[in-house]
Amino acid sequence: MSYGHQGKFVTAGGKTMLNLSSNDYLGLASDVGLYRDFIEESGIGNVPPDGATIPENLLFSSSSSRLLTGNFSVCEEVERVLAELYGKEAALVFGSGYNMNSGIIPAITTSEDLILADKLVHASMIDGIRLSQAKTIRFPHQNLDRLEKLVDSNALSYDTIFILVESVYSMDGDVTDLTRLVSLKKRHSNVVLYVDEAHGFGVRGESGLGVAQEQNCIGDIDLLCGTFGKALASTGGFTVCSSGMRECLVNRMRPFIFTTAMPPVNLMWTLHVLKRLPSMTDRRRHLAGISARLRMAAAEEGFTSSSESHIIPIMAGESARALKMAERFREEGFFLLPVRPPTVPEGTSRIRISLTAAVSDEEADRLISSLRMMKSMVI
Ligand SMILES: *Cc1c(COP(=O)(O)O)cnc(C)c1O
Repeated sequence: MSYGHQGKFVTAGGKTMLNLSSNDYLGLASDVGLYRDFIEESGIGNVPPDGATIPENLLFSSSSSRLLTGNFSVCEEVERVLAELYGKEAALVFGSGYNMNSGIIPAITTSEDLILADKLVHASMIDGIRLSQAKTIRFPHQNLDRLEKLVDSNALSYDTIFILVESVYSMDGDVTDLTRLVSLKKRHSNVVLYVDEAHGFGVRGESGLGVAQEQNCIGDIDLLCGTFGKALASTGGFTVCSSGMRECLVNRMRPFIFTTAMPPVNLMWTLHVLKRLPSMTDRRRHLAGISARLRMAAAEEGFTSSSESHIIPIMAGESARALKMAERFREEGFFLLPVRPPTVPEGTSRIRISLTAAVSDEEADRLISSLRMMKSMVI
């Protein structure tokens, strides 16, 4: 199925609906002003005359791996800006968040290590774990007591223990207590903290650096990862880390070495948005406001969830009920998709509402009214 896209609206089956299934969390992907500034400032709108060469940063392909001739200056500039924003030694950019997780994990672990990963980490981390030689234990979702016991009892038996979590989980919208993970890590000398902020980057924290910024622990996270394809309205993945770690990844990470680097023009756009991200506090505040209102209304109607973010699941239970609810929401003009097993456990089918800053207060009000109607819906 293909969809038509007009700003925050999506067209499917001839019906135009407010898109509540998008990862464009700050509403930047269709922001005309931001786009216009980019076209003007980058010069991408200027057609080169005959005989001229295309400016290198506006090329649509890097035509090579980073390690060969694909290392364009704009890529290093994105990394410099990221490292500076986070106050870290270094940053490294990847073609996608999937490449990032599936590549970093096997590159930094050995058979002498232990990986402790939350049960609900993203598929890209699972694939990274599969490619790793390390022993792996998946702990029950958000059960940090259990994690603590696992760390304490295994710390002496392995070279390094890697803790793998997300800061905001994509299906439940719950937020991880990173400060607790930091204090756990500090009790041992061989624990590495790996945090995927795919859903937190851009959205959380005073300047949009994520949950780690909100919880004031950026400095204590060894590999802080994010993606550009969600709030940043671009494409790619990144990690901020130590220079030594960056060096290690550049030399060992196969999905970094054996792949064509990101197109320069995409990196130009990433840089354009990244530089403006810290000042987008109004958008973040608005998104936090409508999210809190929707979460409260959902709880009042009995749709309890563990969400503490802009990702708000409306629990339907059975698969058929989720389908029916999604249909009703669409009739009301809200494009929502049912999430069913095997994506989520049996009996926890849901409607996953992903709010963005482009949703107005009035639209949030209408959404809440529709939600209140769902409560009494019988199948
Ligand atoms: C979306 C997502 C990814 C993958 O990022 P892409 O850039 O889309 O490949 C990785 N981790 C998490 C937690 C995600 O939500």
